[in-house]
Amino acid sequence: MKIIVTGGAGFLGSHLCDKLIEQGHQVLCIDNLITGNPQNIAHLQNSPDFQFVEADAADPFPQDLDFDALYHMASPASPNKNNPQSYMALPFETMQVNSLGTWNLCEEALTRGAKFLFASTSEAYGDPLEHPQKETYKGNVSTTGPRAVYDESKRFGETITSAYVKHKKLDGRIIRIFNTYGPRMAADGRVVIEFVNAALQNKPFPVFGDGKQTRSFCYVSDLIEGIIAAMEKGHPGEVYNLGNPNEFTILELAEKVKQLTGASSETSFTESLPTDDPLKRCPDITKARDILGWEPKVELEEGLKKLIVHLQTIQKPQV
Ligand code: NAD
Ligand code: UDP
Repeated sequence: MKIIVTGGAGFLGSHLCDKLIEQGHQVLCIDNLITGNPQNIAHLQNSPDFQFVEADAADPFPQDLDFDALYHMASPASPNKNNPQSYMALPFETMQVNSLGTWNLCEEALTRGAKFLFASTSEAYGDPLEHPQKETYKGNVSTTGPRAVYDESKRFGETITSAYVKHKKLDGRIIRIFNTYGPRMAADGRVVIEFVNAALQNKPFPVFGDGKQTRSFCYVSDLIEGIIAAMEKGHPGEVYNLGNPNEFTILELAEKVKQLTGASSETSFTESLPTDDPLKRCPDITKARDILGWEPKVELEEGLKKLIVHLQTIQKPQV
């Protein structure tokens, strides 16, 4: 199949391109590199099945561009206000790619009769009052808070996708991705990469708030299998949570990273909990298990070990 991946030079998008090519597809990656890294796709540049176009995913496609499926992965994704790659530092770019971008891409997919997948987020649930979160939970989200440019534009992206399915018969589905980590993550302020990088330099773990807030961390290879299963087996108009349902506090994460690296790092309570930072987050993945036949296989300790080895290998001086 001919497949488009927007945001294909980013962390998740580049792993998705790898997997699709491995499965024998032809992949066109569209990325404006606003938070992505050409290094993530450098190994694909010589593949006859891979093409990279540096462009805004929301721009109209050439009329003769034909494709069978489109994964809309493009969007800044880090909430860390101190980082220039975060969606808080890129508010208009974030709102645009998830709203107008999704609208244009739904239209492009519809015109070609192609399948469509929109990468939404667990942030659609905001600071959840239901726990764990099922797809039916409608969320507790601020329209004007610091995370709103991301959360609300993803929610609107879901609405656009859903309207295209209902009213125009687009073959589209939505995934809500929960915290995912692994090789090629940018050091963009997200907690796993911050803590692993801190440990590898024996620096303190920068914990926000009291560290008792929870997250559920999914290893990238598991998530990519879930994304492809959602495209292939997911029903039009449906929403699927994709993530690992094992939940940890941020302090537990720091402890695990410390054990696995053997670092001397201590926890340092650097900042109060950011406004609207969800206190807990954990996916209910019953629907993905039942309909997609998918569940994660890599547990946190194993995934962290893989990430640590990867970072140690790329950071080792060349001799
Ligand atoms: P990332 O920043 O590594 O990748 C995003 C990619 O999109 C980058 O390469 C960036 O340059 C590109 N991009 C952004 N705006 C664009 C535009 N207008 N046109 C073309 N390219 C554009 O982030 P990621 O973690 O790989 O996230 C990928 C997707 O998954 C995002 O949509 C994000 O919201 C979603 N998501 C990720 C996680 C996670 O834990 N990684 C969790 C929830 C949702
Ligand atoms: N966090 C932290 N230190 C950091 C980065 C994040 O304590 O250096 C916390 C953050 O406040 C949040 C959790 O870790 O409660 C997960 O943050 P992340 O930025 O990875 O993504 P989020 O799940 O909030 O979108």
